[in-house]
Amino acid sequence: MKLIASSYYQRFRCIAGKCRHSCCKGWEIDIDPVSLERFKRLGVGSISEEGTPHFILREGDVCPHLRSDGLCQLICDHGEDVLCDICRDHPRFRNFWTGFAEVGLGLSCEEAAGIILSEKEPLRLVRIGLCDEDGVQISAGLGQDGGLSDVEGGGPAFDPAESEPDFPEDEAWLWELRESMLLKAVMMKDPVAARLYEYLVFRHLADALYDGRLEGRIGFIEHAFETVTGLWSGSPDQSFEALAGIARHWSEETEYNEEKKDALIERFESSAHTSV
Ligand code: SF4
Repeated sequence: MKLIASSYYQRFRCIAGKCRHSCCKGWEIDIDPVSLERFKRLGVGSISEEGTPHFILREGDVCPHLRSDGLCQLICDHGEDVLCDICRDHPRFRNFWTGFAEVGLGLSCEEAAGIILSEKEPLRLVRIGLCDEDGVQISAGLGQDGGLSDVEGGGPAFDPAESEPDFPEDEAWLWELRESMLLKAVMMKDPVAARLYEYLVFRHLADALYDGRLEGRIGFIEHAFETVTGLWSGSPDQSFEALAGIARHWSEETEYNEEKKDALIERFESSAHTSV
């Protein structure tokens, strides 16, 4: 499958020990079966196999392998390839369409939030390679039909209307709807607000293909935008770092809280249906 990403996606690198809001704290860390076997072979400790295998967090919900200098002891001992899927993948999210997958960066990661919100240009999606059915990149470049890897994010914008002859009608319709929503960001005077809105649309709309909650997702996107920009307006510190920090915190508290996010989507979905 083709892998499509925002043009800034490949600039992301985890800042590990320099991260002030490490994703190694405050989250449950489930371990996939292949990694579990690897961890067993290597004698990695602090794993519970009760229910879904996971790391047994230390006090304060901290990963047992996070060192006091912010580095991961597992990476230090065995290299990056040792990581389980969830650790290797964070903060990425994916959207799946017929014939291609999209990958983006999540706002709850402070490094990703800085990259997303500081982007000067409107969101541009480019092809960065090929991926497997889970959306994990397996090669860079343009695949069998040739071409160079778009490592700088400078390639032509991806348009399924031109490159996907079998793009289903319902997906083409949703793609067009998303394009029209993204135009709203182009009209915004504040580039940071524009990048936030684009992020929310890119991240949350496409899943309507799978859950059918289109109105709920649009309601959630608009609500999230109003909430974060409202928090920005009330902030005494208007520096970029402060605004990115507010957005990151909202993301961690609401967007990455599946229960909270689902309840909001459900609320907007129901109110759209009762008002018809
Ligand atoms: S939040 Fe982002 S930058 Fe920080 S440790 Fe996690 S992936 Fe790295």
